[in-house]
Amino acid sequence: MPPPRTRGTGLRHRLAELRGPEVPAKALDARALAALAANPGCRRRALLDGAGVNKAALAGALGAPSAFGQSQFAFTRGNAFEAKVKADGGAELLRLVHERLDRRAEPPGGARVPELAATGPAGRTARTELALREAAEARGEWTLLDHPMLALDVAGSPAYLEPDAVVVHPDGNWTVVEIKSFPMLDGSADPAKVGAAARQAAVYVLALEEAADRLGASGAEVPRVRHRVLLVCPKDFSNLPTAAAVDIRKQRAVTARQLARLTRIEDIAAALPEGTCFSPELPAPALTAAVESVPASYAPECLSACELAFHCRARSRASGAVTSLGRSVRAELGGLSTVEDVLSAARGMSGDPDDPAVAALRRAARLRAEALAAKEAVPCP
Ligand code: SF4
Repeated sequence: MPPPRTRGTGLRHRLAELRGPEVPAKALDARALAALAANPGCRRRALLDGAGVNKAALAGALGAPSAFGQSQFAFTRGNAFEAKVKADGGAELLRLVHERLDRRAEPPGGARVPELAATGPAGRTARTELALREAAEARGEWTLLDHPMLALDVAGSPAYLEPDAVVVHPDGNWTVVEIKSFPMLDGSADPAKVGAAARQAAVYVLALEEAADRLGASGAEVPRVRHRVLLVCPKDFSNLPTAAAVDIRKQRAVTARQLARLTRIEDIAAALPEGTCFSPELPAPALTAAVESVPASYAPECLSACELAFHCRARSRASGAVTSLGRSVRAELGGLSTVEDVLSAARGMSGDPDDPAVAALRRAARLRAEALAAKEAVPCP
């Protein structure tokens, strides 16, 4: 008799069925985990990510391939900039950490830069945690961890994450460093890109907090993981590094909530029709039906965060959903959820006139009609 299936193995089996026979689970990386926080209400994304579905392959099989990924040029330029920031034992990077985050500490005259090489992600994670422990014991010194490996528990399995750097301050606190190749002009950068970097850094902070807890469980003093991370970018149009402290408390809270929801993907999976499968081997109509059986909440932000964006945008537009116009427009329209409802309310054919959204739409429609009538009344020169 086969052994009874536990809740965990039952869920794993169900998720494997959703991926399709012989389709390996796609490991979640920090970018994917961070993107969960970009659209926290999307059950479709939560399920597909939780099940380890390769969304890029799925989007291709649906006939709506994503336009994701960095160009080779951007990749090379990014690597060159990161190498410059970390040159000379990270002297410039540590100077920026001191200047932007910890002016009360002794300026870093040098730093410990432990070797973190090991075999496999689990081995590299263990090596990183050992280095963090040694740094905690070396109070009063700066330590730079270059590309450490961190583990974050995601739905019961470890996701391995590799931040650009983690700095251990002389007081034992830990800071995540994100190095990006988009420019910081006059001290500020593109808010959308900063937001994406903050969400990614929040994932690293959560993973570091788990590492800190493990350190504490072994009897050591639990270090504080700072919730202000350092974002390093090229200054203006040069290749010189500059940096800003970014408060990631909000992104951290949203991501933590999303990760907790990921562990409840069995509820979403349970609501799916029997036999639902997302294997890219299936014909497009069957795949479309499978994807559409999971509720989504498309917003224009998806275009920069999710591989399924072109598919979801097309479906959202086809159904006339106002969310495809953006979350702020959606919020302004109250209970009116489709473009058809909005037009009907504006024309006075439906809607409660005391509803502020309906009243505003009718006023706007009246003003538009008056403007058009005035334009037509002006004689041609
Ligand atoms: S693109 Fe689709 S699946 Fe992805 S987050 Fe947006 S609505 Fe959800």
